[in-house]
Amino acid sequence: MFSILASSAKSSKQHKTGSWRSLKKPKFLHKNCIACNLCKLICPEGCIEGKEKNKYNSDHLYCKGCGLCAYICPKKDIEMVDENK
Ligand code: SF4
Ligand code: SF4
Repeated sequence: MFSILASSAKSSKQHKTGSWRSLKKPKFLHKNCIACNLCKLICPEGCIEGKEKNKYNSDHLYCKGCGLCAYICPKKDIEMVDENK
């Protein structure tokens, strides 16, 4: 959570952060997505793309692994998985 507080919104497009992300990264399951867009709206790094059901993904070069997308997803269609998976 502190990484969120320390960065301005959507700052990662100027600064790749994936190299220092640790422990977890989001995995979009593409099973139950309803294209509500909440994951995209809440992502502090602006690194989620998608418009259609089951087509959302994050750019791991910029994702910090904060887990907010998985937390907010109403369909539980995003899992935080180990970094090396
Ligand atoms: S874990 Fe999700 S909300 Fe957090 S930076 Fe990565 S894609 Fe964005
Ligand atoms: S929050 Fe979940 S259901 Fe909504 S667009 Fe993102 S992956 Fe799809």
